[in-house]
Amino acid sequence: MIASRRISPLVLALALTAFPHAQPRVTPPAEALGFEPGADYHLATYEQAIGYFERLARESPRIRVLDMGVTGMGRPMKYAVVSSEANLAALDRHKDISRRLTLARGLSQDDARRLADEGKVIVWIDGGLHATECAPAQQMIQLAYDLVSGEDAETRRIRDEVIALLIFANPDGMTLVSEWYQPNIGTPFEASPLPWTYNKYAGHDNNRDALYAHLIETRNMMRAQFHEWFPEVLVNHHQGAPQPSRIFVPPGPEPTNADVHPIIWREQNLIGSAMAMTFELAGQTGVVSRLSYDSYYPGYCTTIADSHNCPAILTETAASQYGNPLSSDPADFPEAYRDLTPGRFYTSPWKGGPWRLGDAVAYVLTASKGVLQVAARYRRELLWNKYVMGRDGIALGASEKPFGWIVPADQHDPWALGDLIERLLLLGVEVHRADAAFDDGGTRYPAGTYLVPASQPFRAYVREVFERQTYPDLRRYPHLWQNAGGRPVAAEEPLRPYDATGWTLPLQFGVEYAEMSRPIDATKTRVERPPVAAGGVRGEGPQLVLGREDTRSYTAVIRLLAAGASVASATEPFALDAGRYPAGTFVIEAGRATPGEIARAAAETGVTLVGGRVDAARRPVRTPRIGVYQSWMASMDEGWIRLILDRLAIPYSRLTNDEVRKGGLAASFDVIVLPSESPQAILNGRRAGSIPPRYAGGIGQEGVATLRAFVEAGGVLVCNHQSSRLAIDGFDLPIADALDGVAPRDFWIPGSILRTDFEPSHPLAYGLPEAGASFFSGGLALLPPEDAGGAAPTVAARYPDQPLLLSGTAEGDERIRGRAAVLDVPVGKGRVVLFGFNVINRAHTPGVWKLLLNALVGPS
Ligand SMILES: [Zn+2]
Repeated sequence: MIASRRISPLVLALALTAFPHAQPRVTPPAEALGFEPGADYHLATYEQAIGYFERLARESPRIRVLDMGVTGMGRPMKYAVVSSEANLAALDRHKDISRRLTLARGLSQDDARRLADEGKVIVWIDGGLHATECAPAQQMIQLAYDLVSGEDAETRRIRDEVIALLIFANPDGMTLVSEWYQPNIGTPFEASPLPWTYNKYAGHDNNRDALYAHLIETRNMMRAQFHEWFPEVLVNHHQGAPQPSRIFVPPGPEPTNADVHPIIWREQNLIGSAMAMTFELAGQTGVVSRLSYDSYYPGYCTTIADSHNCPAILTETAASQYGNPLSSDPADFPEAYRDLTPGRFYTSPWKGGPWRLGDAVAYVLTASKGVLQVAARYRRELLWNKYVMGRDGIALGASEKPFGWIVPADQHDPWALGDLIERLLLLGVEVHRADAAFDDGGTRYPAGTYLVPASQPFRAYVREVFERQTYPDLRRYPHLWQNAGGRPVAAEEPLRPYDATGWTLPLQFGVEYAEMSRPIDATKTRVERPPVAAGGVRGEGPQLVLGREDTRSYTAVIRLLAAGASVASATEPFALDAGRYPAGTFVIEAGRATPGEIARAAAETGVTLVGGRVDAARRPVRTPRIGVYQSWMASMDEGWIRLILDRLAIPYSRLTNDEVRKGGLAASFDVIVLPSESPQAILNGRRAGSIPPRYAGGIGQEGVATLRAFVEAGGVLVCNHQSSRLAIDGFDLPIADALDGVAPRDFWIPGSILRTDFEPSHPLAYGLPEAGASFFSGGLALLPPEDAGGAAPTVAARYPDQPLLLSGTAEGDERIRGRAAVLDVPVGKGRVVLFGFNVINRAHTPGVWKLLLNALVGPS
């Protein structure tokens, strides 16, 4: 008789009795993938990684694979939940506990204590947000295996106390980078940079998307964090440790964001120190803190957690270069690091030597496990603290200023209001509408006014959004970043933060708002959904009119043109029935468009078309043929421009170096947009030999000549921010920059919101209010010539002659007061539009997008 190869039930029962924790064997990564995570010259794709997670989930009850939506390129965005079998069986209960403790409403101290006793700490770990920083995402594969299969006491404790969420923050990027790299291995291009952004739109800026949450991946993650899981700790892994350190872990340096609950900083100190200890015990040197990566700016996918009462643990492991082995010679270290002097936040200096992807993966893995270990040890405290922070937010918002903000429902741009409210709701903010009229600060507000009280669990986030930031000049507080005693060293120039200093959202959205002078006790209703405008057609007549105030008017016009309507733009103000309409108002005639098509365009874009007879002079608007220049430098600004055009359903083509150099552009395009890139990058691109030949080089001088010919033939060239210098120099325009040669100590505006005036009678500023705001970071202050005769440049936006700062910091702003911010420069039969500031700014500034939309749509 042939012996059965099956294990008899009796033997299995005996084995399980002898080893109560015995689990079926799970497949190690190398067996599934054919290589160890982090092996030289190997980068798993997202599909491989998720396929492995799914295999683990089939083999073990300690891991589940869930779905949080789709990505920009249409992949399912899956992630893993890892914990003990018992915790996973009670997952809904544990999610509910975390939610109730986080939101804190209606929870007594005693109930909160009981929930903190019972609950499990939810730790969010994401990797791969910046997809060319490859180690964090590759690490996730090993982390899943170790957590699922480990039988040591530490791993068991983690599974018992923690629910770990393992998230690939940028699935598209993980596969794009792997697929770019693998064919280059063994060629001269195995270190070549990816020539396009590593996700559908923003590339590296995906980490600056949290305040506005444009990217679908960001939206998925915000929904998961603030509507489903409410994690107690968030870990966001990167690879940018300052050379020669091997990893940055919290605490970060100053400045410290004053709106965030102080418990967050104490938790970051605690967790960061515990992580550093884990590295020390593992003999992994080069761990540094208090350097480079401050938590001041709240709009990273990392720091957004801080203002939601969840400590954000940023790690930055030393860079690797895809899967290529590297090595570092101490002689090349920055001088202060060469003699390996230790410090309190750099206890064990790294001594140099080889550094491979596998080393980076091992460091990220230690960091992840370090967080999980400390989270397991402090489970109850982390849960309790979450409650305390939510409770404090509710109490402080009711007892001290600021009490909250009032947002009128009647806004210049209804679309911007809807977008702002939608983002607040997505980010977990409690928004209400007043059921009846009320008074505050001498103003009467009607029913329907939006109320955003500060008294809510995420009070810190509400303050981030609505307050005007005042950047703390660190020169005034040397005790905070040097030492409390002794003689501090004064810095000559202001110490700049890692990112922007001002971000107040309503200012960037062009939305009117007011701070409450007291807690508003009007009866109110919680808002569950953002306002949706019911568009339509009102009145009758040969024409239909549509103002440009609503950003959706551009979408509607493009649709109407496509349906065969004829569209014009009034060149003067006019009256229709009781309404007054400014210059720039769209005047539409049905043409080939059917009444049904017109009604649908209005309804689906949410705009109101008003019928009547219009006698005002007007100029035609035609469907613009738009080209957006795409360099092979993976321009984030180009990605943001495409995102905005896609969101507004405005068609465009992408224009490469080859196409620009070839010329004849006027035959294919009416408008060409140069995203904000340095003239060097646009002219020269990547060096030949550094990237496969078809991606080397830029538009060159031939490209400048073809662009000039395009403009002279009647085209419009739109230059955003940095690319304005390309047109000024390349076309020899008579425009100067008032900031040329000015030293940073005389002018310092490192990412702030400034007062900006618009000229609503100028075709570029149609639809804008007379006064508003723009975001300034390394901008130009444009000086048109004193006397340019008939073809003089005209000013569409200017900095007023008064103190400019609205939010952030500004030194020396008098140098740009009165200067032009947006210029329209006639050249031949066409025009060059110069933006001194970035009109897109990571798509954060819908309040000024019309300047770009007008340049695209015309009138022609
Ligand atoms: Zn990064």
